[in-house]
Amino acid sequence: DDAVLEIRGLDVDYGLGDAAVHAVRDVHLTLRRGEVLGLAGESGSGKSTLAYGLTRLLPPPGVVAGGEVLYHPERGEPVDVLRMSPAQLRRFRWAETAIVFQGAMNSLNPVHKVSTQLMDVIKAHDPTSSRADRRDRARELLALVGIAEDRLDSYPHQLSGGMRQRVMIGMALALQPRVVIMDEPTTALDVVIQRQILRQLTELRERLGFSVLFITHDLSLLVEFSDRIAVMYGGRIVEQAASADLYRRALHPYSDGLLHSFPALRGPRRELTGIPGSPPDLRAMPTGCAFHPRCPRAFEPCAQRVPVLGMPRARQGEDRAGDDRAGNDRAGGDHAVA
Ligand code: ATP
Ligand code: MG
Repeated sequence: DDAVLEIRGLDVDYGLGDAAVHAVRDVHLTLRRGEVLGLAGESGSGKSTLAYGLTRLLPPPGVVAGGEVLYHPERGEPVDVLRMSPAQLRRFRWAETAIVFQGAMNSLNPVHKVSTQLMDVIKAHDPTSSRADRRDRARELLALVGIAEDRLDSYPHQLSGGMRQRVMIGMALALQPRVVIMDEPTTALDVVIQRQILRQLTELRERLGFSVLFITHDLSLLVEFSDRIAVMYGGRIVEQAASADLYRRALHPYSDGLLHSFPALRGPRRELTGIPGSPPDLRAMPTGCAFHPRCPRAFEPCAQRVPVLGMPRARQGEDRAGDDRAGNDRAGGDHAVA
């Protein structure tokens, strides 16, 4: 078993009772050792909520309403992050899992040099280290993320957005975490920079052996750099597959729509289409498959139940006991729903 993080049936709400917004619903997702797992979905699909929920960093009124998040340490039994003691949780967040959240680059302190901020992180976890050691480590960390030594004593405003983001990654790697979660903003960084960052992370992952959960709305970026991809819609994972498989043939019409709503990075330019319609109201989700009102391939049963991915239409009515593949690994069917 090579799981590092195993999310099982995670539910996250904003608010309570009838007023609750069900932002994440019954998510099953496993991050494996050393892999880059991409999480894609339109704005509002619940990507950040999932990341905050699984690290227990949800701001109020966010609440984890159910499920478990099993962390598999290097040695010993898996631990449910949702039931960790405060001490366990601190260790998990700092030493085992590094999180670079949406907009994190703006959380650098504007009045301190990059060197000081990196050295502070190192000091917090290794209080006995010498100043000279910490400075060396800070220099190494910047080198790791491709920032030249002469930037060590820069202030954040002297660096570009992409560089600040890379400083944050360097900071996150300071403690040699086993898991790096990166939540990319939809707008703040352009795709060229996101691409550089993702490439850098995949290279570092090969050298340092951590696992990456990379969150973006840009599926084409993930196709290029991640091993597997999970696609989120209306708080649920609607499909997950190896990147190559998803690219070759996305089974869920929503994944297909996302794949074709961004320009290809390589190859001939395609038309930018976007998916017509808007994301579902999380307070009043459509019945059946939540995507059906927008789906170009919807057929009559979609309003009642979620079709089995990869199963031909004609067989959709058959016994589906234990066969709901949405959110689980790819179905073995030979035919996409068409
Ligand atoms: P983006 O790509 O824009 O970052 P996302 O996929 O990360 O989007 P989330 O930020 O996780 O989406 O939001 C998921 C849903 O939860 C959205 O519909 C959002 O409106 C809702 N939501 C987020 N924060 C709150 C809150 N504090 N109170 C109520 N609803 C919220
Ligand atoms: Mg987000």
